[in-house]
Amino acid sequence: MLPASVNVSGADSPAGASSNRSALSAGPPLRHKPPDCSALGSPRIFPGTRYVFCVLAQRARGLLIGVDLCPGKVCSFRCVYCQADRSHPEAENRVELEVMAAELRRVLDLAFEDRLVTLGDFAHVPAEWLQLKQVALAGDGEPTFCSNFSETVQAVVHVRAQGTYPFFKIMLVTNGSGLHLPEVERGLAKLNSRDEVWIKLDAGTQACMQRINRTRVKYQRILDNIAQLATHRPVVIQSLFPRVHGQEPPPDEIAAYIRQLLRLKSQGAQIAQVQVFSTHKPSKINGCSHLTLRSLSLIARRVREETGLTVDVF
Ligand code: SF4
Repeated sequence: MLPASVNVSGADSPAGASSNRSALSAGPPLRHKPPDCSALGSPRIFPGTRYVFCVLAQRARGLLIGVDLCPGKVCSFRCVYCQADRSHPEAENRVELEVMAAELRRVLDLAFEDRLVTLGDFAHVPAEWLQLKQVALAGDGEPTFCSNFSETVQAVVHVRAQGTYPFFKIMLVTNGSGLHLPEVERGLAKLNSRDEVWIKLDAGTQACMQRINRTRVKYQRILDNIAQLATHRPVVIQSLFPRVHGQEPPPDEIAAYIRQLLRLKSQGAQIAQVQVFSTHKPSKINGCSHLTLRSLSLIARRVREETGLTVDVF
């Protein structure tokens, strides 16, 4: 959790981003607002870049450098709690590899040379929170729908393989709906065993998934994708439980969700961790608000006791 004394209030403001552009000036158009998919947490900073952003992430317990794989803001879900800004989608949902790799090197330089504090928004953040934990493939949409997903993963792996920096883990943050795509399978094959895949699973039934994630994707497709991947490599399950129109998740929905986790386990899925959390920002339009820590803790305890999995509340 972020120390209470940390002043990050302007971290995701356009002004905060633009004030840092001179430190990392890049030729291509710059983003005005960082990706805000709830999977990573906030606050986050775009240090004058187009694809690469920084997040102080509770769930990673430190600094994440993010790579936005969703310039076109494409997603197969429309989650009730989604905070993504889709107001300025790029025409093509693909990453310009040379631009991204150059930005990534510049931000890695800042991180490993302890110079992130020179960015205004990080000036008061304790040094231990600026230790790089991972490089996250994420964005304001679903990263697996990036049309050059495999090449982008390869480019990030290449930056790491050059040996300029201490080893860093790469993690993919996904809603799971595109994991079966051949382009994605090719990209995932480039990751090593220490890299991580974090997959969203907010529901235990098709009906609940339609209510929370508002998607036409079949629930079974998500389960099959998780099972397929997790029999080959451990995955982290990210489960966001919102309060919707004042209602907590019904106990029978939690029971169904637990049954699905047990089913995945019985199929041989390696689930390294289940992350239980709630939405950060209430959405009046969708009647969506934060679930109390007490309710989240009760859900987590039930999941832990009934599945034997490692479950953490954030
Ligand atoms: S999966 Fe898509 S709709 Fe859901 S929170 Fe992430 S970006 Fe938003």
